[in-house]
Amino acid sequence: MLRLEDVTVRFGARAALDAVDLEVAEHEIVCVLGPSGSGKSTLLRAVAGLQDADGGRVLLSGADQAGVPVHRRGVGLMFQDHQLFPQRDVGGNVAFGLRMHGIGRDEQARRVDELLELVGLPAAQRRAVASLSGGEQQRVALARALAPEPRLLMLDEPLGQLDRGLRERLVVELRGLFGRLGTTVLAVTHDQGEAFALADRVVVMQDGRIAQVGTPLEVWQRPESEFVARFLGFDN
Ligand code: ATP
Ligand code: MG
Repeated sequence: MLRLEDVTVRFGARAALDAVDLEVAEHEIVCVLGPSGSGKSTLLRAVAGLQDADGGRVLLSGADQAGVPVHRRGVGLMFQDHQLFPQRDVGGNVAFGLRMHGIGRDEQARRVDELLELVGLPAAQRRAVASLSGGEQQRVALARALAPEPRLLMLDEPLGQLDRGLRERLVVELRGLFGRLGTTVLAVTHDQGEAFALADRVVVMQDGRIAQVGTPLEVWQRPESEFVARFLGFDN
């Protein structure tokens, strides 16, 4: 469904992505792990078309995405700095994009209700975005990214500001939702537990390269390098 071939992104002399190859199958959930600065967000931005690559190709359903603008790629995005629209209320933020997709009013209202319920903000429809806490804003941004039911959903630290109980509940519910909708997901997280609970496969990044990719069990049981072992918290 998604394929990166030899994708390189340079900032000055430094490669934020260094010849990355990755395939994500239809309906697969892949979580990207790695230290700060290892290239996780750059990977998502390159797939979305928000970051030009200096080399290599990004293919979606077999089609080379070179020159295809972000809104034509059919991908949903949620960023680390989840920029909500401050002039719209919560419901307006979640519904944003649905009208563009030609979705009627009743269906818009149904999805907004369902998603706000999912993220634990059922009564927040009319609230001003500025009145929400950081974690509440993050949940609204997650609902907004899910609303158009994109073929590929990319999430950058979607649950980063939430407390453990809520994260654990959301991980389970998101897995169910992605399964029902058949969404393909590429998600960045710092939290190994979250990645291992959510993902069909995990990718561990190191300095712009993929250090290891495999099922959570494979990566956990057989780290392929000292870097991966250390990153997972094994002492030796
Ligand atoms: P974090 O976990 O902190 O979010 P990350 O893995 O998402 O880190 P990236 O944001 O992908 O890391 O950045 C990878 C490297 O590329 C970093 O060294 C970063 O400083 C650099 N970088 C990213 N964007 C730019 C930019 N626009 N200009 C210059 N350098 C950049
Ligand atoms: Mg990042």
